Amino acid sequence: MTQKRFMYQGNTGHWEVVIGLEVHAQVTSQAKLFARASTKFGSEPNANVGLLDAGLPGMLPVINQECIAQAVKTGLGFGGQINLYSQFDRKNYFYPDLPLGYQITQHYHPIVGEGALPIEFEDGRQKEVRIERLHLETDAGKSIHDQHPEKTYVDLNRAGVALMEIVTKPDMHSAEEAALFFTKLRNLVRYLGTCDGNMEQGSMRADVNVSVNRPGEDWGTRCEVKNLNSIRFMTQAIHFEAARQIEVLENGGEIIQETRLFDPNKGETRPMRSKEDAQDYRYLPDPDLPPLRLDDVFVEEIRKTLPELPHDKKARFVADFGLPSYDAEVLTQSRDIADYYEAGLEALPSWKGKGSDTKPAKILANWAISELFALLNKEDLTISESKVSAKSLAELVELILSGTISGKIAKDVFPIMWAEGKSADQIVEEKGLKQVSDTGAIEAEVEKIMAQHADKVQEYRAGKEKLFGFFVGQVMKAMAGKANPGVVNQVIQDKLKG
Ligand code: ADP
Ligand code: MG
Repeated sequence: MTQKRFMYQGNTGHWEVVIGLEVHAQVTSQAKLFARASTKFGSEPNANVGLLDAGLPGMLPVINQECIAQAVKTGLGFGGQINLYSQFDRKNYFYPDLPLGYQITQHYHPIVGEGALPIEFEDGRQKEVRIERLHLETDAGKSIHDQHPEKTYVDLNRAGVALMEIVTKPDMHSAEEAALFFTKLRNLVRYLGTCDGNMEQGSMRADVNVSVNRPGEDWGTRCEVKNLNSIRFMTQAIHFEAARQIEVLENGGEIIQETRLFDPNKGETRPMRSKEDAQDYRYLPDPDLPPLRLDDVFVEEIRKTLPELPHDKKARFVADFGLPSYDAEVLTQSRDIADYYEAGLEALPSWKGKGSDTKPAKILANWAISELFALLNKEDLTISESKVSAKSLAELVELILSGTISGKIAKDVFPIMWAEGKSADQIVEEKGLKQVSDTGAIEAEVEKIMAQHADKVQEYRAGKEKLFGFFVGQVMKAMAGKANPGVVNQVIQDKLKG
């Protein structure tokens, strides 16, 4: 494991940045953490309110077992320590969208302890980001300030919804690392089905803690930027915070530990409150909730339901298909993508299975990662909405592998498949795109080109070897890109020798 520190440049030299995340992930569950009310997104305001979460007197919390199982499943997914003993605490504060007057959380004894997730950079470099804990807590409601000039409305649909708060160690040193980690975690919860990872709907959001220090010196004082609901905002907030802190320190100032808010319109952070101490919240064990005791059988039952995890799937793609680690990482970012790839490989006649030539697997991976993903991104579609099925993509790749068309022609065929829903074979047939490998036809064309450019032939023979590309280009052009490039190269070489 290498650890290259990302360097920020200030006016007076280099700075390092240290980042830790606190991620809030909404537990996928029908009901709230301690009440039966529904968690359905997009309901009418206050349609899904639990009597407990509305703060009605006399209501007692009843824990939702499903949420516990989901938290344990997530913990197992990142190799976290599952704590058989955990406990719920009240975090006391006033806010209009918190009628209870406290949030129920696990301050002292979280349900999951230390674990880690590996991240991988595009250049293949890997590192591990340690996770400190995962605890369960309730979400608050929402105050709506922009619907009436003088009034604030309160919507309690989210109040009491179960969240998993996942806290990392301060192991990240650039916005890129933080984004990679967050993406990795989101992919994991989606694989597991424990959180839908939908940031636009608020199912997943992150607080970023940022500090800066000069190389070799102790870590600086951190600031926390709250509630970032997109990876782009996370990245912007980190860049802004790092630059702001560096500027303050270089001007002889001091960083005060505080909580800040990110303004997406300005791309800036601004102070929200100075960092509160735990004692301000008067954390105390919730007297209505006995400690949560799990047994090994419960945990083992959940372990049995785990799907093949992203890192195991990735390792298998590397071992069985011979893919480079980064390709395997990209293709296993979701179960749907991995399934698509595997279905394509299955349908690819040139692929003879584990232990055979890995070229077909690699070519298919290239096509999925570059051409397919490009069109999906362009049209903002998920892989399950792809207009070219795995089997159809495999047919196209097979045409390349069998030498029927060149890779270059295939790049023209693919968008037509996408737009018109036709098969690769059909398009190649209709448009007469079959590759010409017939040496005779290619030789005739090469001779013609050489006759037309007798001067260049002479120059080449006199030593101007870079003209070789010129001849290849001319022949390809004359044959509308359909000539087999290998044969063209060979023929030109032979003929130019004279
Ligand atoms: P607290 O108990 O005050 O909330 P924690 O130790 O739980 O503090 O840390 C909260 C978050 O801040 C964690 O994600 C942690 O990784 C991160 N963190 C801690 N120290 C630093 C630092 N010097 N710079 C950046 N992040 C930090
Ligand atoms: Mg903390």
